[in-house]
Amino acid sequence: MEVIEEKCLKCHVAVRPTDYFCYNCGNNLKPVPPSVSLIGQTTLYIRSVLIPPFGILWAIKYLKQNNAKSKIVGIVAIIFTLISLIICSILFKNFVNNLNNQVNEQLNLFGY
Ligand SMILES: [Zn+2]
Repeated sequence: MEVIEEKCLKCHVAVRPTDYFCYNCGNNLKPVPPSVSLIGQTTLYIRSVLIPPFGILWAIKYLKQNNAKSKIVGIVAIIFTLISLIICSILFKNFVNNLNNQVNEQLNLFGY
């Protein structure tokens, strides 16, 4: 039976298929998946809340990963993004309404 062996493209040393970096020369063998660590998740959620439309881009990176945990993290980040967008639009609507009311009051004062 043939064993599938991956080799580092740089120094041609045999590496494990699960490795992201060559242990011999440090060459990057394949893209490192986005982190699902607590810090990785927190960073993603904060980004989602603070910069809503762009949070989606990071969330999609997580959704593309082939494991359930990353996908869940991606979905949660998208939910955070949507909540943040909804809150922003409500705040903006209130702000515009207040502005309208104030302008109308001012106009009334001047007898318009
Ligand atoms: Zn190498």
